[in-house]
Amino acid sequence: MPRAGVSGKFRQIAGLSLCYDRPMTDRPRLRLFVPADLAADADLALGKEQSHYLANVMRAKAGEAVLLFNGRDGEWLAEVTQAAKSAVRLAVRHRTRPQAAEPDLWLLAAPLKKDNTDLVAEKAAELGASALWPVFTRRTVAARVNAERLRAHLAEAAEQCERLTVPDLKEPAPLERVLAGWDPARTLLFLDESGRGAPLAGAVPAGLLAILVGPEGGFAPEERALLAACPFARPVSLGPRILRAETAAIAALAVVQAVAGDWRTPPRGA
Ligand code: SAH
Repeated sequence: MPRAGVSGKFRQIAGLSLCYDRPMTDRPRLRLFVPADLAADADLALGKEQSHYLANVMRAKAGEAVLLFNGRDGEWLAEVTQAAKSAVRLAVRHRTRPQAAEPDLWLLAAPLKKDNTDLVAEKAAELGASALWPVFTRRTVAARVNAERLRAHLAEAAEQCERLTVPDLKEPAPLERVLAGWDPARTLLFLDESGRGAPLAGAVPAGLLAILVGPEGGFAPEERALLAACPFARPVSLGPRILRAETAAIAALAVVQAVAGDWRTPPRGA
C-alpha cells in the first residue's frame, strides 16, 4: 500500500473526518484498501503504514471490526486480532458486498499545483472515475507528478467513499503521445474553455468515456487544433463562466455520472 507520500497529519485529519462524517449506523468506522486476496478465514498481516494508521492514528484494538476491499473480491468484514503498533493482524470473516460493475470513466487532467492535483485525485475517486491519467500540455506548469502520493490519495478517498475499487493511476504522459495511442472506441470529452463545444450535459454518448481537462493556463491553440483532428474527441462546454481546472474536472465528472453514469444507484445500493 503506497502510503509514504501522505503525512501523519493528513492521515489524522482524514481519520477524524471519517469518524465524524459517517452517519449513525453500525457500520465499522474503519475501512481499508488492501492488495491481498480476500476470502473467509484469511489471516492478513498489514504493512507498516496501515498498521500505524490503525493502531496509532485510529487506536484500533483487538476485536474491532474493519471493512476491507481489494478491487476484485468485493467488500469483507474483518476483525483485528493483533493491534501491535507496527504489526496489525486481521482475520477476515464474511463478505458484506459482492464486487459490482462500475462506470468505465477516465479523467485525463493536466497536473496542477500540488494541492490542486491532490484535490482532483481525491474528487475523481469520490466521483467514480475508473482511472486518472496525468497529461502534460503546453501550458502545464508542474514539471512532474508524484505518483506515489497520488495513489495514496486515490486509495484514501476510495476507502472513505465506500467504493469497491481504487481508480487506476496511468503513467503520466504528454498530450500528443496520449492522443497518438488512443483507442478510438473511447470518446474523449474535451473540456474546451473557448466555448466552441456543445453543452456537456447533452453531449455524453453511451459507452467508454474519458474527460480531458486543461491546466491553469488552458489549452494552447495548437492543442485545440490537434484535438479537432481526432475523430474520437468532442469539445464540450461547462457554461459561460471560466472555471478553475479543478472545479471543471469535478463538475464534468458530476455531470457525466448524473447523465450517463451510476448516479441513479443510491448510496450503499439501498
Ligand atoms: N486560463 C484559461 C482558462 C483555463 S481554465 C483562460 O483564461 O481561458 C482550466 C481548464 O478548465 C480549461 O483548460 C478547461 O479544460 C476547463 N474549463 C474551465 N472552464 C470551462 C468551461 N466553461 N467550459 C469548458 N471547460 C472549461
